[in-house]
Amino acid sequence: MTNQRQATDELEELYAELKAFIDSKKPQIIASPHFAHVNHEGKRIRVEVSDGAFLSILTSSVEVYPSSYIGNGEDLPGEGEVWGRLFGFVTEDQEDITYIVTGASVMQNYEYRTHNSCCPSEGHDFKVTSITNAIPGLICLGSFHSHPYRYSDFTTDFCSHWSQTDYESTLATAEHYVVPPLELIFALSHLNSAKKYRPKTMPSYLVNYCRNFKFVLRAFVLNMLEESLDDVDMLRCTLAGKIVNRSD
Ligand SMILES: [Zn+2]
Repeated sequence: MTNQRQATDELEELYAELKAFIDSKKPQIIASPHFAHVNHEGKRIRVEVSDGAFLSILTSSVEVYPSSYIGNGEDLPGEGEVWGRLFGFVTEDQEDITYIVTGASVMQNYEYRTHNSCCPSEGHDFKVTSITNAIPGLICLGSFHSHPYRYSDFTTDFCSHWSQTDYESTLATAEHYVVPPLELIFALSHLNSAKKYRPKTMPSYLVNYCRNFKFVLRAFVLNMLEESLDDVDMLRCTLAGKIVNRSD
């Protein structure tokens, strides 16, 4: 009996050692306790969106922008908002927590989609996150979605702002994230002509033009205590600010 007990203890010890070894080999993802707090311990939240991620957001949003808003008669099937996942990694230092968005995956299947809402297919989203979780160093940072508007209804602040539904859908998936989810909103509108205005850069958003489209890229992070999505302290996206409309 004593020998059996001893053998069990040794096995448990071996198991604990093995588990500690396996854990030490896992990718080191930031999961500091302060991520659960609203103020991030006073640290600034910065977001950097890669050119590739922005290109996916821009082209997919334009693709399903309602034809009726351009004056091309009826909408084509499947037009309206677009939604997708954001991937990348997070870094942290004494002052900042920085989300680096390296890629955006555009959802192709929806439960429904209208001019001002969309419900992505949970089953299809799960397929995407289940494979991306296996990619070393890559974590799911949150999601993006577009806000298509007619130009007559377009105002920068209102159209790029989050809605109660945006907050609730971000909150609903919060438990799946290592860090508070990031939500990028891409508001866009079609103008009668291509404008050549200079881009406008604000701390949490950027306004620019691409051919006949005017767009706003704006970044929020979930704030569960205030039940809101908070504007981040700094958004950077090189490609979004670099687009220059040429003369026709
Ligand atoms: Zn929205």
